[in-house]
Amino acid sequence: MKRRDFIKTAGSGSLIMGTVLAGCSNSEQGGVTKAQQTRERHEWKMVTTWPKNFPGLGTGAEFLADLIGKMSDGRIKVKVYGAGELVPAFEIFDAVSQGVAEMGHGAAYYWKGKNAALQFFASVPFGLTGMEMNAWLYHGGGMALWREAYEPFGLVPAAAGNTGVQMGGWFNKEINSVDDLKGLKMRIPGIGGEVLNRAGGTPVNLPGGELFTALQTGAIDATEWVGPYNDLAFGLYQAAKYYYYPGWHEPGTTLECMVNKKAFDDLADDLKSIVLNACRVANQDMLAEYTARNNDALQTLLHKHNVDMRRFPVEVLEKLRSLSEEIVSQLAEQDPLAKRIHDSYHKFGLKVSKWHDISERAYLNARSS
Ligand code: CA
Repeated sequence: MKRRDFIKTAGSGSLIMGTVLAGCSNSEQGGVTKAQQTRERHEWKMVTTWPKNFPGLGTGAEFLADLIGKMSDGRIKVKVYGAGELVPAFEIFDAVSQGVAEMGHGAAYYWKGKNAALQFFASVPFGLTGMEMNAWLYHGGGMALWREAYEPFGLVPAAAGNTGVQMGGWFNKEINSVDDLKGLKMRIPGIGGEVLNRAGGTPVNLPGGELFTALQTGAIDATEWVGPYNDLAFGLYQAAKYYYYPGWHEPGTTLECMVNKKAFDDLADDLKSIVLNACRVANQDMLAEYTARNNDALQTLLHKHNVDMRRFPVEVLEKLRSLSEEIVSQLAEQDPLAKRIHDSYHKFGLKVSKWHDISERAYLNARSS
């Protein structure tokens, strides 16, 4: 009797199928049957760029891992490792690419050394907001480009979180003019760092876990991190005088889940769908969580810790925006794929900002007037 026939007559429950198949010899194996799919068990490691269980980011990675376990009824078990537990924060891309871990949770701008155009999949200064990033990725062609960009590294990417508009950061000197950026040593990743460089400052990139000490010891003059919820958790208010807004450099950063392509391809189709859709849920959930928690944390910073919050002067923001536009258009010249990513993002941005001028912006203005 052929396996398929046997399964059909064996009964309805997957447990029964599992029991029956457990007795079959391996030599019978040809194609992967539905019943075999139900018996798949995968134990995966997820490496992250965040401290273990760090609010929002680390807990977002845990939420995703847990969700994949539940949705797959335990067929995929994902164990999450904080930064440095298995590999250092900024080595997770290579670790997942090489199969040291099956999954990684980080942000695409950390990998600009691989290809500067990858930064479009995290955040672009003065670029798309969180809502707009999701629109571009899911319904504007962004996701297909992201998959194409990660393919040479043996990785399957997915959006798996979004911070919303970030804060400008913590400074130990006032920023009253463009000149105040000159010589400023600041932790700021991605294209924002390059903008600061052109404005005469010195950008440095450090994993989140190192920010407080770097700021407190004076190794850096300023740092951005995320927003009130995360900045409060790191206690950054204890190491800096001023808290600036808005986060011009990260208007809605997409966090990523990357999966080793071989591990992904080995999954049955339903498990592939579960992994990608769990990412989609985690992506949406994180933005909702940040939106809910940032305001509470901001009140604590302002009223309990007496933080001195400042808005960047208009003149400074204008300069930063013109430098950003220069740098972003230069990214397009790097190679044909970078040009396609840039053009897709740019074109989408022009259209969506016209729509949001008369929807989100007009509404927010009306609400506050
Ligand atoms: Ca940031």
